[in-house]
Amino acid sequence: MIRAAFKTVLSEIETAKKAARRSGDSVTLVAVTKTFGVDAVRVALECGQRVFGENRVQEAKSKWPELKKEFPDIELHLIGPLQSNKVKEAIALFDVIESVDRDKIARLLAQESEKQAKQLKFFAQVNTAQEAQKAGISPKEARTFVRRCTHDYGLKIEGLMCIPPVEEPRAPHFALLHKIADDLGLTSLSMGMSADFSEAIKLGATHVRIGSRLFGRR
Ligand SMILES: *Cc1c(COP(=O)(O)O)cnc(C)c1O
Repeated sequence: MIRAAFKTVLSEIETAKKAARRSGDSVTLVAVTKTFGVDAVRVALECGQRVFGENRVQEAKSKWPELKKEFPDIELHLIGPLQSNKVKEAIALFDVIESVDRDKIARLLAQESEKQAKQLKFFAQVNTAQEAQKAGISPKEARTFVRRCTHDYGLKIEGLMCIPPVEEPRAPHFALLHKIADDLGLTSLSMGMSADFSEAIKLGATHVRIGSRLFGRR
């Protein structure tokens, strides 16, 4: 089932890329394995998948250290909110942190990267709908925040990430994220999940985070 799902999703990604005239490796599939166990991950690895996403540090710690030893080319993304007391573990385990969403975390991530001498990639999470309960910096503050990360904390932000509200049309959120990234000269855009990745690719996504379409219901 997972194998067939990978085939379908990869071909839908190709179709969306063609429609948007996007080139060969311009879109990375981040396979989101939260709540799924090592068995599911192994099937994905057999399909050739190497880029994965987890939303909790604790859960990721129980799953990935061994697998990463076995497959050194795995790239693991943290896509969920990060608490300051988990920064050390996050830097040790992940390769990309997509959810940099506030000053304190940015500062700690920079400090801890230096301490561990690790070069991760970082995305700033933007709360495009300005929902009170959702993580992310507001679109208005994005520019200042990204600048502060780079200049004050020494944390190089490579791109932006967003999670639009489920009940709203996605296109305006994807377009807004793209515009903010363009303004800041950032080229990576993590947007689009199982329900809307084709639309996200048409609007410029470079990373799509897909869970349930690949692994089933959670
Ligand atoms: C769970 C999750 C996904 C994947 O969601 P699906 O709808 O299962 O594809 C993507 N991004 C984030 C931040 C998530 O937490």
